[in-house]
Amino acid sequence: MATVGVLALQGAFIEHIKTLRGLGVEAVEVRLPQQLDPLDALIIPGGESTTIGKLAVSYGLLEPLRRFAAEKPVWGTCAGMIMLARDIGRDQPLIGVMDITVQRNAFGRQVDSFETDLTIPPLGAEPFHAVFIRAPIVSRVADGVEVLATLESGAIVAVRQGHWLATAFHPELTPDTRLHRYFLEQIAALSVGAPSALDAR
Ligand code: GLN
Repeated sequence: MATVGVLALQGAFIEHIKTLRGLGVEAVEVRLPQQLDPLDALIIPGGESTTIGKLAVSYGLLEPLRRFAAEKPVWGTCAGMIMLARDIGRDQPLIGVMDITVQRNAFGRQVDSFETDLTIPPLGAEPFHAVFIRAPIVSRVADGVEVLATLESGAIVAVRQGHWLATAFHPELTPDTRLHRYFLEQIAALSVGAPSALDAR
């Protein structure tokens, strides 16, 4: 069974830990670079990306996170998606591995938060109830980035590029564990070195 870290500098890390443990996964909070060493994969939670980025710099984590992401599966939710993006149109510390452009706070003040049902084909036909909180959207994807979900407006809210997954919403705040299980399947596929559709980069 995989050991999955959750970056625990700020934000909704406890909820991810609980969901992972509920699935029988060894889940650990990560605050220091050496805590990355035993992990098979990492989740970067929602929160405030500027704060997570600043803390990652002062904890000496940014480079270790980039090195980790180069080899192992990483999933960013909301602020975590921002942290994974290569380009967000402004200067703040990012891990910056995914070839996507992300627009922060894309829904503005009027619709700070909302919930909606998404169709996410790899999870099956049943819609996924998604909670968006001051959420970003993906405004550009490079070739090789798979779009997993869009809003009715066409805005992209879930993407996968090789072993990296990014969602604009908060799957750790709802009881549906399908996205966590999808991420765990990717980890399993990578760790047995299976030729996998999940690593089609
Ligand atoms: N608006 C936040 C940011 O820009 C993200 C919000 C969230 O993670 N729920 O970092």
